[in-house]
Amino acid sequence: MGSPPTVIIGAGPTGLSAAYHLGEDALLIEQHDRVGGWCRSIVDKGFTFDYAGHIMFSNDPYVHEMYRLLLGDNVHWQEREAWVYSKEVFTRYPFQGSLYGLPPEVIKECIIGAIESRFGPLDEQPDADVRAPRAAPQANGHAGDVRAPRAAPQALNGDAKDAEIEDCCADGTADVFGTDAPAGRASGDTCAPTTASLEPRNFEEFIYRVWGAGIAKHFAVPYNRKLWAVPLSEMETSWLGGRVPLPNLEEIIEGALSPKPKPMGPNARFGYPLRGGFQALMDGFLPHLKGELHLNTRVAAVSPSRHELTLDDGATVRYGHLISTMPLPVLVRLMGDEAPEEVRRAAAGLRYTSVRCVNIGVGREKLTDKHWIYYPEDTIFHRIFVQGNASPYCNPPGGFGLTCEITYGPLKPLPCEGEDLIKRCIDDCIRVGLIRPDDPIWTANEVDMPYAYVIYDHTRRERVETIRSWLLEQGIVLAGRYSEWEYYNSDHAFIAGKQAAEKVRALQAAQPAALSERVVGMS
Ligand SMILES: Cc1cc2nc3c(=O)[nH]c(=O)nc-3n(C[C@H](O)[C@H](O)[C@H](O)COP(=O)(O)OP(=O)(O)OC[C@H]3O[C@@H](n4cnc5c(N)ncnc54)[C@H](O)[C@@H]3O)c2cc1C
Repeated sequence: MGSPPTVIIGAGPTGLSAAYHLGEDALLIEQHDRVGGWCRSIVDKGFTFDYAGHIMFSNDPYVHEMYRLLLGDNVHWQEREAWVYSKEVFTRYPFQGSLYGLPPEVIKECIIGAIESRFGPLDEQPDADVRAPRAAPQANGHAGDVRAPRAAPQALNGDAKDAEIEDCCADGTADVFGTDAPAGRASGDTCAPTTASLEPRNFEEFIYRVWGAGIAKHFAVPYNRKLWAVPLSEMETSWLGGRVPLPNLEEIIEGALSPKPKPMGPNARFGYPLRGGFQALMDGFLPHLKGELHLNTRVAAVSPSRHELTLDDGATVRYGHLISTMPLPVLVRLMGDEAPEEVRRAAAGLRYTSVRCVNIGVGREKLTDKHWIYYPEDTIFHRIFVQGNASPYCNPPGGFGLTCEITYGPLKPLPCEGEDLIKRCIDDCIRVGLIRPDDPIWTANEVDMPYAYVIYDHTRRERVETIRSWLLEQGIVLAGRYSEWEYYNSDHAFIAGKQAAEKVRALQAAQPAALSERVVGMS
């Protein structure tokens, strides 16, 4: 009688990486008919679309090793063209470094706001012979109360510059990160130390402190509200690194006086599979998996006390160790009464934002040379991922693919769905000049991502800790974005899967005899 396998729930990038690193010992269970999780792609009338735009980006040599293993030479690296569309003009992303071309009063508000966020209100400066008028009360009602306090002297005397700007997930959630930022984010010693007086109480305050009232008003607040679909004051800032970077005034002023050149260098490059969409990166694991993979198999119940899973067809699977990559609230729900009341309550309160993608296949080539565009204003979508430029092989001859991303949640339900939503997206694409009214639409479809963004609200940390510590007692290893309930990208998923495999190896080494009696396999 052999020992029961290590079961991994979910064949997204985390589960695939865990299975790859565990080798023959792994039994990987996936509800869908393909591997990849949110890193899958679909093909519709010759157009390849991802589940929301996905790019490859990492500074980690191990991740690049994985990219080489999984894709070989089926890879396409290019320098990103990330843009913002507002006030009827395109400006380069990040917004604050590329104000050139915006209306003069917008540029003025942005620069004054950035100066005030760093030095305090201009009309309180003793030697100021040229006084800027106080910025007008903000449309969002935040005039005054969230103005940057005078920064502590040590923060101003230091070498603080803007933190490295990396749009690594290309979702534009925020573009300045500190040293403790989630894996994959930029790090460096470019942030001012957090002091009591500087510490923002929530994400909205963070934005005002970091960028100032003008940039907050014209981009950061409306864009992030649209994306997160919750009031930004309900979010904390630990995911941003816990430090408060100061604005780089030189960069802001330079970017306002002349057009920003195309970003170059390793941090501006992103990768994408040449053929096969993002899916190709996931499928790259398949020849390297040594254990079993069960597709079309949904885990319907989890019993930590019996070390047993029940599948949707009623079969049961015993596990020696369990790695879960499924969303944390779902895992706890599948445990029913075995999970203590306190854990169930904590899981039920975890908040997340969902994404609905509307994919449009247009019958005209090369609609734009941009890779993705942020829309902070009144379009239904917050971002368009220009799927047609991710790789030339994403389009059929003569066609060009776009993915409109729309977030929703309890506080911001989708205004419509299906054909109505598709029409709304096409109309908005025409309104912002991306599609012409007479362009033929060869195909359009919708893709839903119920768990898309983990919301870092003020209760998240405590809730996750309550759940995590109980699951640890049950010997269950949590791995990946939705199981660890962290803001991770697929590059970190590779690392999270590897770490989960290492944890299991350590547990196996610590308790080899205890579990070897169990019966293996499905019944
Ligand atoms: C809008 C958006 C844009 C993104 N852009 C990027 C990007 O540009 N670059 C990047 O690197 N990352 C990006 N990401 C992040 C990336 O998608 C995730 O980090 C990654 O998919 C997480 O992988 P995972 O394996 O942990 O989870 P998932 O991808 O969610 O995989 C979990 C798997 O578990 C399976 N599962 C769940 N429940 C069950 C069950 N009961 N039984 C069996 N199987 C189950 C699911 O079907 C799924 O296959 C983006 C994410 C979003 C939402």
